[in-house]
Amino acid sequence: MENPQGGNYAKESLNMDGVIPILMYHSISRQSGAAFFRPYAVPPERFAEQMAYLYNNGYTTLGVTQLIEARQKNHIPERCVVITFDDGFADFYVDALPVLKRYNQTASVYITTGYVGATSLWMQPDEGNRPMLTWEQIKAIQEAGVEIGAHSHTHPQQLDVLPVNKAYSEITRSKELLEQQLDRPILSFAYPHGCHSPRLCQMLKRAGYTSACAVKYAFSTPTDNPFALARIIITPDTDQQKFAASVAGKGWPISPVHERIQTKGWRFVRWCAHRLPRTIRLRWRELLSRPIQINRNLPPQ
Ligand SMILES: [Zn+2]
Repeated sequence: MENPQGGNYAKESLNMDGVIPILMYHSISRQSGAAFFRPYAVPPERFAEQMAYLYNNGYTTLGVTQLIEARQKNHIPERCVVITFDDGFADFYVDALPVLKRYNQTASVYITTGYVGATSLWMQPDEGNRPMLTWEQIKAIQEAGVEIGAHSHTHPQQLDVLPVNKAYSEITRSKELLEQQLDRPILSFAYPHGCHSPRLCQMLKRAGYTSACAVKYAFSTPTDNPFALARIIITPDTDQQKFAASVAGKGWPISPVHERIQTKGWRFVRWCAHRLPRTIRLRWRELLSRPIQINRNLPPQ
């Protein structure tokens, strides 16, 4: 595979077809709560089976900054899988960290700094009670060799359409708070809901980050945009067969080189909607959520 900076990647140093699976987890718990959250809660025993599979089959796990450094050195480990956790739920400390330690694995955990030590209030009312990591736990996670990254301060619904100053504040405030607490540079960011844009990529670079995770439901590659890394989601329905295929580089598309025109168009629509007066936005949301009334006593035509 060609490296844009010159040189070639050794074929055997990559997974099949030169793809890099970046796994995306959220909560490791049995408690799925509201329907919308069910895909994001992987039971602890399933997570433990998956990490055991990686260990028993010779995979090397990396955090995101380790991947970026390996890319720069042109030396991506053989059978490499990157593991990420979004949001900063407290169940990571209880049900994921001991498993990672057991199998000598690592990962990146992205913290929503405005809710540290509290609950998942950005998901009120249905999922607002999930305990979040405390600062003490986050420090212990870092000491255990797991990378801590930023996931914004308040977890906005659509970071990519916020006004520039608000978006920049989300990016820098979370970085500064984590750096103050952990006394280490915070280099990686994960976009809330995966909402990213070329403008946000520039802001992250300016703020001192070296990478950012998007979603894309696709495999990353050694030449994937470091500020919009593609990830694949692991859900409670990811059985061992599907997991094995995913980490072997099968069953998902490969990250597109250029942003699709539909993605740009959809962002523009959301950008316009975000700038509508609040009263119109609320009325629009109310109309969309109203059940359809069927009049069963219509007069004959
Ligand atoms: Zn999130």
